[in-house]
Amino acid sequence: MTANTGVARVILRLAVPVPLRRLFDYLPPEGLTADDLRPGQRFWVSFGNRNLVAVLVDVVAESPLAELKPALERIDRQPIFDDRSRGFLQWAADYYQAPLGELYAAALPVALRKGKPADHWAEPWLELTTEGKGLPESALARAKKQQSLLQLLLGSGRQSRTALNARGLNSTVCKALVERGLARWVSGPTAPPPMELVEPRPAPALNDEQREVIEAVSAEGFSASLLEGTTGSGKTEVYLRLMERALRAGRQALLLVPEIGLTPQTLRRIAARFPDFRIAALHSGLADGERARAWLSAASGVADIVIGTRSAIFTPLPRLGVILIDEEHDGSFKQQDGVRYSARDLSVVLAKNAGVPVLLGSATPSLESLHNALSGRYQHLRLRHRAGNARPPEISLVPILHQQLQEGFAPQVLRHIDQTLKRGEQALVFINRRGYSPALTCDDCGWLADCPHCSAKLTLHRRQRHLRCHHCDFRMREVHSCPQCHSRNLNALGAGTERSEDFLTHTFGNFPVIRVDRDTTASKQALDRLLEPARNGEPCLLLGTQMLAKGHHLPKVTLVVIQDADGGLFSADFRAPERMGQLLEQVAGRAGRGELPGHVLVQSRYPEHPLLQLLLNKGYGAFARQLMEERKIAQLPPIRAMALVRAECEEPRWAEEFLANARDYLQALAPPSPELQYLGPVPALLERKSGRFRFYIQITADRRGLLQKLLAQFSQWAESSKNRRLRWAVDMDAQELS
Ligand code: ADP
Ligand code: ZN
Ligand code: ZN
Repeated sequence: MTANTGVARVILRLAVPVPLRRLFDYLPPEGLTADDLRPGQRFWVSFGNRNLVAVLVDVVAESPLAELKPALERIDRQPIFDDRSRGFLQWAADYYQAPLGELYAAALPVALRKGKPADHWAEPWLELTTEGKGLPESALARAKKQQSLLQLLLGSGRQSRTALNARGLNSTVCKALVERGLARWVSGPTAPPPMELVEPRPAPALNDEQREVIEAVSAEGFSASLLEGTTGSGKTEVYLRLMERALRAGRQALLLVPEIGLTPQTLRRIAARFPDFRIAALHSGLADGERARAWLSAASGVADIVIGTRSAIFTPLPRLGVILIDEEHDGSFKQQDGVRYSARDLSVVLAKNAGVPVLLGSATPSLESLHNALSGRYQHLRLRHRAGNARPPEISLVPILHQQLQEGFAPQVLRHIDQTLKRGEQALVFINRRGYSPALTCDDCGWLADCPHCSAKLTLHRRQRHLRCHHCDFRMREVHSCPQCHSRNLNALGAGTERSEDFLTHTFGNFPVIRVDRDTTASKQALDRLLEPARNGEPCLLLGTQMLAKGHHLPKVTLVVIQDADGGLFSADFRAPERMGQLLEQVAGRAGRGELPGHVLVQSRYPEHPLLQLLLNKGYGAFARQLMEERKIAQLPPIRAMALVRAECEEPRWAEEFLANARDYLQALAPPSPELQYLGPVPALLERKSGRFRFYIQITADRRGLLQKLLAQFSQWAESSKNRRLRWAVDMDAQELS
């Protein structure tokens, strides 16, 4: 522990979870030598006055520092990150200008991030002895249960106790085999938590389009493909077949889904197709222990299928064979705080590193992926027809300007809903706002309920009797008189899902009205239960936010109503029309997914708007290609690369000042030119959030490499300048200007 003596030393270079873009050197903990150290192991270290869990990146002989502390304790004997995943995390840290320690933290489930040892989840596994392996499948014919256990082990190698129990092979059967000297228990890595048992469901025969798509995806080696296929065209079936191909080759399949796409329904569908494979689901709905267990089963190579949301991309997968991204356009693949990575974009990097195919699927591809497909960087695959018997829905615009509306609904829309329900079918009403009303105001003095911490209005939630900010979650009791003039003439302006629920329940009282939004579906199971009557095919009226747009296959829905299509037409965010188009197409895609034809009614104040016309008459494909032309003219992403440098703090002046200096620094490195442009500092669309003012500089470049080099230098500069009062971040490939 003394200063450098010239003798070869052993120094740990660790990624520590702190917001600093560098690694930290420590000496090995007492009693450990070079032989005990392998990159990918976790260590407890003391950092400042805290103890943190760090990951070993490298073992070196020299350190620029003379005085080094020893790390406190080694947590893992076996590394929990393999070489490939460490290389991948390093790549992501460099690309997103993020501290490597924070990336490791993002990769780990909470329990492992907090230092829980991996062998906490180790399990007993049953494996055959040499004698057992020598038996034919037909042996033990007189003890049926023992025979099926033998056959299972002969076919699949060892099995964890949980998996055996889930198959109804209890400890008595196992014990019998062990006592005959045919099998033995060993301790092994954790297996994924058992799935609820589902009836195995065989695959449908593929149609020609699906077969062509599957044949186009390489079985071996890297390839990137965009699968552009209308809703209901059988994309999921394609994912399942590509998964199967990898599984049969002894490889792991990774399926990434949007945050609200990982429903029990999706899991059931996959479990029903692959009853013999081990499935690990990674999502935020899991308890810490379950999640750590699922993660470790993937990282140790035990799980065959890994389904997860965004952060699952960082799970080490030693046998990775294929990556599938469902609804690749979905905004939840991009993390919007901390390390601002895009799991979708990273999936292509990971596939390349691992030498495996990646398929990005969507009915409404992002302009980014479409651009990559149209320029030949990705293979462009299409599914143009709905699978099975379903036909595309008929879409009509309903003008609502100068119309007598009832709580936001045109009379003809209400008539359609009525007829649909009376025919015994289901209707779905899409409203892009939860709560009762998005604004509460005083009719006498003009007072408006604002969030005290954000530049935003409070939403009235009448069920919970409070006003709530949807940006910072500030809450206050519902008021019945004006805080400013004490008048009782308060007016709730506009309608959210609660208010529409009241109205629709009142109007169509004979039928169940099911409201689906974040307030009614605290858990994934809640959503599943809520949709039960709809799945059973009873006539009912579904009403909800974009949660309803995704993934649910409800064959009895024949009418879809989009209450307000205008949101995306006039926004300051250049991506707003793209998002509006995606949402409309996805919601419309819920109509007529079964035998019955579907009808979509779209209410709009601007039915003549050319973008809306294009979308409804020609579909999302033509609409997106038109938007691409506009991006070309405006030189915006995906034509050019874009990054934001963001800053936020309590005093707007400081953030603006910091960014003005940042811009000077950047421009001194690389002056503005046709290839490189700067904008700002400008306030973010949501200028104040949680009491902090937010600004950014926008940088666009025609080469991503140029932007990369510039931002790497900038990050070093920004980190060395003392800015304790403000937070700054680089947002590479920024998706939101808010
Ligand atoms: P998507 O993921 O594109 O929305 P799905 O894969 O969910 O589409 O397919 C929509 C419906 O069509 C599902 O009920 C599915 O079982 C069915 N389906 C898919 N492929 C076929 C096929 N080749 N033959 C018959 N039915 C199919
Ligand atoms: Zn008032
Ligand atoms: Zn707020």
